[in-house]
Amino acid sequence: MSKINACFICGTDTDVGKTIVCSGLLKNLPHAQVLKVIQTGNTLFDEYTYKTAHPNAQVKTLNHFNLAASPHLASKQTDTVLTVHSLSEQIAKEVNKNEFTLIEGSGGILTPINQTETFIDLIALLGYPVLLVVKNTLGAINHCLLSVKTLQYYDIQIKGLIFTQPNECLNEEDKLIRADNALFLASMTNLPILGNLPFIAQLANKDNQIAWKQVAAQLQDAAIEITKDIENKDYTLTEFDQQHLWHPYTNATDHSTNWVVKKVKGCHIYLSNGQRLLDGMSSWWSAIHGYAHPTLLQALNEQATQMPHIMFGGFTHEPAVHLGQRLLSIAPKGLSNIFYADSGSVAVEVAMKMALQYFQATGLPNKTKFISFYGGYHGDTFGAMSVCDPINGMHTVFKNVLPKNIFAPKPNTPFRQDFDPSSLTELKTLMQQHQHECAAIIIEPIVQGAGGMWFYHPAYLTELKKICTEHNILLIVDEIATGFGRTGKLFACEWANITPDIMCIGKALTGGTMTLAATITTKKVAQGISAQGHVLMHGPTFMANPLACHVALTSIDLLLQSDWQKNISNIEHILQKELISCLTEDSVADVRVLGAIGVVQMKAPINANKLQHYFVEQHSVWIRPFRDLIYIMPPFTITSEEIYQLTDAIKCAVKEGVWA
Ligand SMILES: *Cc1c(COP(=O)(O)O)cnc(C)c1O
Repeated sequence: MSKINACFICGTDTDVGKTIVCSGLLKNLPHAQVLKVIQTGNTLFDEYTYKTAHPNAQVKTLNHFNLAASPHLASKQTDTVLTVHSLSEQIAKEVNKNEFTLIEGSGGILTPINQTETFIDLIALLGYPVLLVVKNTLGAINHCLLSVKTLQYYDIQIKGLIFTQPNECLNEEDKLIRADNALFLASMTNLPILGNLPFIAQLANKDNQIAWKQVAAQLQDAAIEITKDIENKDYTLTEFDQQHLWHPYTNATDHSTNWVVKKVKGCHIYLSNGQRLLDGMSSWWSAIHGYAHPTLLQALNEQATQMPHIMFGGFTHEPAVHLGQRLLSIAPKGLSNIFYADSGSVAVEVAMKMALQYFQATGLPNKTKFISFYGGYHGDTFGAMSVCDPINGMHTVFKNVLPKNIFAPKPNTPFRQDFDPSSLTELKTLMQQHQHECAAIIIEPIVQGAGGMWFYHPAYLTELKKICTEHNILLIVDEIATGFGRTGKLFACEWANITPDIMCIGKALTGGTMTLAATITTKKVAQGISAQGHVLMHGPTFMANPLACHVALTSIDLLLQSDWQKNISNIEHILQKELISCLTEDSVADVRVLGAIGVVQMKAPINANKLQHYFVEQHSVWIRPFRDLIYIMPPFTITSEEIYQLTDAIKCAVKEGVWA
């Protein structure tokens, strides 16, 4: 776990005396080190300054360029590409080795690192507090306020201001101006003055120890202030988290690791310890465009200013209508009536209610049961739980309260093999036996997800639809995991060319931005339910939340405008080509790939906690295995190189035997 064991020393401009401030701080903090992130030009003076201040000063320059210019230019001259990410990794590595680190930037806080990033991006990413060094001269107020406002805009903690003098005060006027600058800025910014250094010309002279003592004395407060919370920030977060917060399917007393995430962007997850992880999970199928996509954020902001929420009882609005229009234009033909729910599980509850109410309203009230499948998963609320796999699901825990439903064998013909019609025999018998009491069959199309990451043959689904119709049983297709391209089709139903009676969607609907789900049905079912004035008995408080609907519409458009089919087939191709080699290991039971989903199934249960640590610590990837499955479903925007990084991590884990 990392601590707040570093401070960024920033200047309001270039050449404000950061090196002198760092040297003076070092004299107060004998165990600290200085990291000079980027040094351009001649380093002799800086080195000499540090050495005269402190003969054993620990000073490390991470990047040096000969041209005395801004880093973006100096690095370009040597064909080096500096990025905020690579710098932050360099820094994080060094910081974690030391008790305390002073990180010295170059120039001011908006000094460019490359064509698109400046120091502020690095400071914000690292998240350490800042000490702002202000050159007390004409223009100081403006420079200082610009810097403070910028830092505050990026939510960066400013510990205080340190004033340096560019030269000797020449007269009373100078004295007056400098004294006023300091007081004015302290009052205007509400920041403490943590040091006011005298001008000492001879600091860099070898034997000017008296002058250095003066500087050090001026910086005592600053040294105390920046190190006073070498508390363990992550520890504090983790401590509360462990004592008070539930995580999915966890024990409140026995804690496995929950890494502290600070930021997400694109295909990457940034941890508070400075590490960057490549995402292999899309936050459980949802973040198909990667994280914090600017188009989605913009949509979110626009909608937030206009109308974050309004009750859907008695009102309607553009986001709900426009999303509805878009959904019907892409959903399997024949679907027509949409119910917006706030999570996948609720969408499944609503689907089940629709089926029950349909038969109630159409004179078959005895049809109250559901047929579902071994290996299926449909959510965690009671109705949804009652149709999840009865062995691996939660049936044992809630045995006496769950409605008793009927379970059919898992659709066992694999996706890519010849279809075996006999795989439906047992199901057909069940349907015949139970058709008088069965309202609907619920199934995940093509991919059984959380119940085992199993891909079955499309013909199974085509046949299922036929026999459902024959037996007057509704077909509920749960597209919550598969919807929006994951399997290579926009909806997995398309593999079987069917239109279900009821379809549930969720997860990727808002591109992983927020929670929204929907249950979509046919006109026949909707009108059936509504016969003789009946109403569908469901109405969430946050139904059709405008923020979620607007972001969902934007996400769908983003997907449709992208070359998603090509992206997914590229992911599929690489996953197939790379993961297949795992099959040569004795420990591996099966490797399967469909669309942007890759699965390596082991022959024995995985030590998930150990393996996850290995992935994070050795490979900087986010892959969360469960049961006997190591699986990935990356964002569609992932690059080929990044896919290799994920598959390499999996291959190494399997080959090195770390999984057990
Ligand atoms: C995740 C999932 C659900 C439940 O969705 P939540 O939003 O977690 O309630 C239901 N069905 C399937 C197939 C899922 O993958």
